[in-house]
Amino acid sequence: MIAMKVKVKEKNYEPQRIFCIGRNYVEHIRELDHDVPQQPVIFMKPPTCLVAPGQKICRPRHGNELHYESEIVVLLGAHGRPDSEDEAGSFIAGLTIGLDLTLRDVQNELKKKGLPWERAKAFDFSAPVGLFRPFDHTIDLENISFSCTVNDLVRQRGNSNLMIFSIKRLIVELGTVWDLLPGDLVYTGTPAGVGPLASGDRVTIQSEQLGSYSWEII
Ligand code: ZN
Repeated sequence: MIAMKVKVKEKNYEPQRIFCIGRNYVEHIRELDHDVPQQPVIFMKPPTCLVAPGQKICRPRHGNELHYESEIVVLLGAHGRPDSEDEAGSFIAGLTIGLDLTLRDVQNELKKKGLPWERAKAFDFSAPVGLFRPFDHTIDLENISFSCTVNDLVRQRGNSNLMIFSIKRLIVELGTVWDLLPGDLVYTGTPAGVGPLASGDRVTIQSEQLGSYSWEII
C-alpha cells in the first residue's frame, strides 16, 4: 500500500498525518449519546488509510458495523502554529469532502474499556477522500454544505455552520499540540445520520462547493 499524493493548483502534497475531529456537530453527539466537548476530540489515522475517488473499499474483517461518516476535509499548506483564527485561514491550501469510516461495534467496545480507537478508526481503506479544491475567498468556510448518499438514499446532510469548533478554530487547536506541516489533512467531524455500509453498497458524498465522489464497498 502506497501513501496517496494530493494535488492542489498543480502543487503536490504527500500527507504524512491525518488529524480527525470527533464530536463536532451537536446532533451527532446526541445520536451517540455523548456530552458536548469543551475542547475538540482529536484522533489520527495513518496516511495509508486514504482511498482516492472511484477506488474500491475493502470491508474490514475485524468488526461488523462499518459506518459512513461524511466530513469536510482540509489540506494544510503551511508550516507552523497559527495563534489566531485569522492566521489559521492562511494555513488552508485546499478543501474537499471525505469519509471517516468507522467500525462502530469495535469502537463501542473500546470506549467501554477506555482503550484507544485505532482498531475502530485507523484500519486500511478507512479514509476515502475527494479531490481538493484550492481555498480562496470564493469559499465561505462558515457555509459549506454537503451530503452523504448510500445506494441513492440520502443519509446525511451537513453544513459547516453547524460545527461546534469552526474550521479555523480547529486549526488553531491542532497547532497547540503539533507543529503543523504542509500536507497535513484534517477531517473535521460528521453531522447526524451515521449508519451502516454493507458489501455491494455504493456511497456517494456530494457538496455544491467541493464536488461529488463515490466509492463501492466490496
Ligand atoms: Zn468522524
